[in-house]
Amino acid sequence: MSQIADNLLLVKERVEKAALKAGRDPGEIKLVAVSKTVGVEEIREAISAGATILGESYVQEAKEKIEEIDHQVQWHMIGHLQTNKVKQAINLFDMIHSVDRIGLAEEINKRAKQSGKRVSVLIQVNISQETTKSGIERDRAISLVLEVSNLTNLKVEGLMTMPPYFDDPDDARPYFKSLRELKGEIGGERFENISMKELSMGMSNDFEIAIEEGATIIRVGTAIFGERE
Ligand SMILES: *Cc1c(COP(=O)(O)O)cnc(C)c1O
Repeated sequence: MSQIADNLLLVKERVEKAALKAGRDPGEIKLVAVSKTVGVEEIREAISAGATILGESYVQEAKEKIEEIDHQVQWHMIGHLQTNKVKQAINLFDMIHSVDRIGLAEEINKRAKQSGKRVSVLIQVNISQETTKSGIERDRAISLVLEVSNLTNLKVEGLMTMPPYFDDPDDARPYFKSLRELKGEIGGERFENISMKELSMGMSNDFEIAIEEGATIIRVGTAIFGERE
């Protein structure tokens, strides 16, 4: 078996173990194999080994790969999205994890309307309030969701976050917990176009903790493809 196939299997086993430990159904956790900076051959290997969702951070890089890889897989945009890349992005991606401002949401809505599409998005929340991270502040997330609920060519499916890196992944737990609680607060109110079913959180270093705290989508790169250059 190739190294990537091996790694993917191992990650899936860890997902299952973490889910069972938390009393959850492993089948409700979607694995996004994060392939930013990874070459087409390696991505093909991961797909052959059973990866069904690929995650990319840059529109241009993703475009080149997606055009070359003609498999039936889903592509998720997980990186910061510039407004001037939206038109391309909505044609490439099945879900956009990084909606963090109303201007971006409006642009996606406008372009989606022109293409006759409804685009699945997550609201990215900057739970840790680090100034270097993208994402709407936690305090402002509900009002952003309220505004976005008026945009009928968007479909908000949940929330995404990226906590700081910790050597001990258990230190990320409060951030995951906080996002889950925010989902509950928003889900408790009633908005059109909004279903708060997905929590995109957890990466190579901390996905088990994220699963224990309710992640439904995890984004794993290094543990599948190896260290990025
Ligand atoms: C790169 C990236 C990941 C994957 O990180 P790994 O530590 O390699 O698993 C997940 N989410 C986002 C938003 C990323 O940019």
